[in-house]
Amino acid sequence: MELNILTLCYLIGSITFILGLKMLSNPATARKGNLVAAGGMTIAIFGTIFLYEENGAKLGNYPWIFAALAIGGIIGTMAAKKVKMTAMPEMVSLFNGMGGACAALISFIEFGHHVKNIATEAPSTGTLITIMVGLVIGSISFAGSMIAWGKLNGKLKDFSFPGQHIFNLVLLAVIVGLAGYLTTSLSADNYYLFYVIAVLSLVYGVFFVFPIGGADMPVVISLLNSFTGVAAACGGFLYDNKVMLTGGILVGAAGTLLTMLMCKAMNRSLSNVLIGNFGGNKSGGAASGSTPQGNYKEISLSDAATVMAYANKVIIVPGYGLAVAQAQHTCHELEKYLEEKGVEVKYAIHPVAGRMPGHMNVLLAEADVSYDKLMEMEQANDEFKSTDVVLILGANDVVNPAAKNDPSSPIYGMPILEVENAKTVIVNKRSMKPGYAGIENDLFFQPKTSMLFGDAKKALQDLLAEVKNV
Ligand code: NDP
Repeated sequence: MELNILTLCYLIGSITFILGLKMLSNPATARKGNLVAAGGMTIAIFGTIFLYEENGAKLGNYPWIFAALAIGGIIGTMAAKKVKMTAMPEMVSLFNGMGGACAALISFIEFGHHVKNIATEAPSTGTLITIMVGLVIGSISFAGSMIAWGKLNGKLKDFSFPGQHIFNLVLLAVIVGLAGYLTTSLSADNYYLFYVIAVLSLVYGVFFVFPIGGADMPVVISLLNSFTGVAAACGGFLYDNKVMLTGGILVGAAGTLLTMLMCKAMNRSLSNVLIGNFGGNKSGGAASGSTPQGNYKEISLSDAATVMAYANKVIIVPGYGLAVAQAQHTCHELEKYLEEKGVEVKYAIHPVAGRMPGHMNVLLAEADVSYDKLMEMEQANDEFKSTDVVLILGANDVVNPAAKNDPSSPIYGMPILEVENAKTVIVNKRSMKPGYAGIENDLFFQPKTSMLFGDAKKALQDLLAEVKNV
């Protein structure tokens, strides 16, 4: 009877994961989707703790389990409450890394059990394959996510050395070779190789993510997500736990689909991502020394307000700076006010704007911007030609023409928002400093571009006041 209730708990868990994921695909239902999936996860966790039995015995160890749950729960809640919107991408990377570490630890524990009994009962090949896959992918995901975390919060810079491409491939081949050998010939004499594989996988994770820079981080982040899902699914196989398997497969599949979409959006091939040495600044690190060249012109608030208020169509391009300034609510107010004046206002969303996949959608949804005002890149690029004013708010790399014109640029090949096709371009940022890729942007020096300097929130508040006076 209890087993049936546990199966029911797992079924509820699996269904809520699928429902939650479906609801996450629309900003209007995303928050509820998260809660639904979290509810299902809670049922699955407590069902396992109290109902799971092995050889007729319950799990026990309750003080340990609840102490760990309390510590993890408190740290997670505090981190989520304290985190600033701009630090969300780092937190997602950190938590993803923890998922990978958990999966690798499961492999450690299960391998330890099998090694203890190796003289009497050798583990099956299937079990060993699952343990190895969980170990390797979980460790790579953990180490890679930690490096991504450091890069996203600016503590680590891109790093590569000559021949790293080959080094990564050889390292990966050694890891796969050792894992294959151990799977087929595990004995009391060679079991220590398991720990060698763990260390090599951690090293691979580090070298895999370190060189990736500029416009390529989003692809890697979604790939690491899918790795963690696959590693967790291995845990599901090991424990024959259906809900863990379903959760892992869903994360793995969703991460893989997102990776493919990101690759397409960034014009990169997945094989290059897997080798872990592409696109980034070949000199190692962002071109932080790049200095602005040429002349740019500034626009006053009143002039900017006038051109926008008398325009037929305005397209707003949000970027990372909008998130930094937390200016999404003021931006929505400006949009509503312009619409009241008869101006058609839309938003052009670049797939990698901000610092995490879907960053701008989340930001604008938070300010209640209507979803049907958001245009994806292809649609926006068709519409710029018939647009009077493009207002760029804290975006830089995603509108940089070097991606089309300069083969030596670290973002060369990345599709961009072709804002230069509009009649007038107004760029709001605080200075002439570069964006994430660390490169200068020729758009700022073009004749139809005007700079509106200042923090996005303050600039938008002032612009709104001016528009009201027009
Ligand atoms: P960028 O990082 O290219 O540029 C942001 C700009 O915002 C900066 O030039 C900065 O200029 C300006 N800015 C910062 N703070 C403010 C503020 N308070 N008010 C006004 N402006 C401000 O952002 P984009 O969104 O254009 O591009 C995203 C970049 O991040 C891409 O290179 C992408 O590859 C990368 N990336 C994206 C990820 C994703 O998943 N979306 C993940 C990891 C990286 P100034 O200092 O002069 O104000």
